[in-house]
Amino acid sequence: MRLLLVEDDRMIGDSLRSALRLEGHAVDWVRDAAAAEATLSSERFDIVLLDLGLPKGDGLDVLRGLRQRGDRTPAIVLTARDGLGDRVAGLDAGADDYLVKPFELDELNARIRAVLRRHEGRAEPLLRHGAVTLDPATRQVTRDGEPVLLSAREFAVLEALMARPGALLSRAQLEDRLYGWGEEIESNAVSVYIHQLRRKLGADFIQNVRGVGYFVGGGTPKP
Ligand code: CA
Repeated sequence: MRLLLVEDDRMIGDSLRSALRLEGHAVDWVRDAAAAEATLSSERFDIVLLDLGLPKGDGLDVLRGLRQRGDRTPAIVLTARDGLGDRVAGLDAGADDYLVKPFELDELNARIRAVLRRHEGRAEPLLRHGAVTLDPATRQVTRDGEPVLLSAREFAVLEALMARPGALLSRAQLEDRLYGWGEEIESNAVSVYIHQLRRKLGADFIQNVRGVGYFVGGGTPKP
C-alpha cells in the first residue's frame, strides 16, 4: 500500500521509511506541514502517518484541512505530545488513531492494519477469496490451506486487489502502491507480478479488463 510519512525528525523518518518499505509498502516522506498539505491535495495515499510538531505549520492544521476538503484518507498521528488534551485534539481534528513516541514498530503496523480494516468496513482481519486466504498481520498467503511463497511486491499487489473485491485497479494504481518517490519503476513490473501470482494462485484468480485494469472476485468489476 502507499503511505505518506510526515515527519521532520531525520532519524525517525529515515528509520520508519526503511522499516515500512521492508513491510512491502511504498513510502513517500515529507518533512514539513506545507509539503504535507501540497502532497495530500494532489496525490492519493492509503494512509497518512502524521507528526504534529512540524516546521511551516502544525500537523493538527494539516489534518483539519484534509477533513475540511472531505478527504477520508486514514490518518494516524505519531507524536511526542502525550498530554490528554493533545490526544483528544488529534482525534477530534480527524485522526483515526494516535500513537505516542517512542513506539514499537509492531504496534504501529498493527494499528495501520486496524485502521485500514475499519476504513474498508471489514470486521474480519483475514482477506479471503475462493481457495486463497491472505493474512495482513503475518503476511502469509495460503491456497487450499497450503502456504504460498510470495515476494514482498507480489504480496503488495495481491493485498491491494483482495482488499477491495471486484474493484478494478489500473496498472498505474498498482505501481503507486509498489513504488515511492525516487524509486525507479521497472517497466512491465506489474505484468510480471500478475503473471507470477496467477502461476502460484491459479490462472483465473486475478482477472483483467484489457487496457483498463485488474481485479479479484466475482461479479462485474467496478472502476
Ligand atoms: Ca516533529
